[in-house]
Amino acid sequence: MQNVEYMSWSEHVSLKKWNTFGIDVTARYFAECRSENDLIGLLNHLPGSGKPLILGGGSNILFTRDPADPVIKNSITGIELISDDKEFVFVRVGAGVIWHDFVREALLKNWAGIENLSLIPGTVGAAPIQNIGAYGVEVKSVIQRVHAIDLSTLQERVWEAETCEFGYRDSLFKRLGRGSIAITQVEFRLYKNPEFHIDYGAIQQELERMGVKELTIQAISQAVIQIRTSKLPDPAKIGNAGSFFKNPEVPTEVFNSIRNSFPDVVGYRQANGKIKVAAGWLIEKCGWKGIRHGNAGVHPNQALVLVNYGDAAGAEILDLAERIKTSVADAFGVQLEMEVNIY
Ligand code: FAD
Ligand code: NAP
Repeated sequence: MQNVEYMSWSEHVSLKKWNTFGIDVTARYFAECRSENDLIGLLNHLPGSGKPLILGGGSNILFTRDPADPVIKNSITGIELISDDKEFVFVRVGAGVIWHDFVREALLKNWAGIENLSLIPGTVGAAPIQNIGAYGVEVKSVIQRVHAIDLSTLQERVWEAETCEFGYRDSLFKRLGRGSIAITQVEFRLYKNPEFHIDYGAIQQELERMGVKELTIQAISQAVIQIRTSKLPDPAKIGNAGSFFKNPEVPTEVFNSIRNSFPDVVGYRQANGKIKVAAGWLIEKCGWKGIRHGNAGVHPNQALVLVNYGDAAGAEILDLAERIKTSVADAFGVQLEMEVNIY
């Protein structure tokens, strides 16, 4: 693998270590930026003719071809306390900061609001893009504003939280599409007095198992970390990008008709009246759990997670995903939507 010099363009760089699926594609041009000035410098000297692909931790992307577009790894640093009042702290964080490093800093300073989002891979800059969520909390609840560079004009753009159009694993940024913006900073409003969210899944049970007497954000984070490490495959050991599909929301009639045939179907009623069905359950019922096709597979414990058993090509994993989609649609009449970004 070629050494990458930061802030200047390198050619023919393997992206294997830059994506958690571990797909070995080669970027025609690659560079890393550690500040906004670096980023602008790189954008002012863009090689080739394609629109740049901004990469964070590579934990939500599947490469199916060698990128001919210039790839910029966003490593913009910095966690800065801007101000505080009786209730809140206002913090600005560089887009390249590792998400869990930010969570750790918040826990250290007793800033509440992101403890349930412990151990989600990737960077702070990618967090607003799919409005990361886990264990009953979404990042939209603590985002105040998002700063980006418009990749066409190289001007700064700022979005207040209300204009980010956050939804379930969705936002305006996801829909703007590749090559439009590079998120540079995210501003958060975190709580001095925590509101605990422990009614989701196994958190309560885990806290009991840990023998926690006094609830703290640090204890919740520990519980989440414990559950995640026991359930989810570690990308350092086996390539994956977490949940490959979103959990589909279906009308009550569709859910009831599935339940008539399968009383054990798992679903959760949403504020919009629809029912969110666990995609992992649908995939498992279609017989995919633990299946391996060549180097691509469905994880034996988590049917929602597709894995790279070795040197899988991105196209092999995408092919498996398409087959899963078709079989779920045939069996249940439910369309799965991919959560992972396909390049
Ligand atoms: P990347 O994969 O690098 O990029 C994702 C997309 O965003 C790409 O289209 C990229 O071009 C774009 N992008 C990235 N950074 C920028 C930027 N600064 N500006 C503009 N565009 C950018 N997600 C959850 O929501 N909840 C979970 O609990 C969760 N658990 C996971 C567990 C595992 C084991 C794994 C591997 C993934 C999990 N994910 C989860 C998915 C993933 O961690 C998140 O989506 C994360 O926010 C992706 O961050 P990233 O920096 O790796 O993004
Ligand atoms: P889980 O707890 O076994 O639950 C299965 C699915 O049912 C989840 O995906 C979740 O949807 C939904 N669910 C469970 N309890 C719920 C409740 N009380 N209210 C509403 N919906 C509920 O899931 P898991 O796979 O172990 O993951 C745990 C959490 O981490 C989930 O929030 C999941 O989204 C998140 N996670 C995400 C990724 C990713 O790549 N996106 C990867 C791993 C884990 P939601 O997904 O909508 O919460």
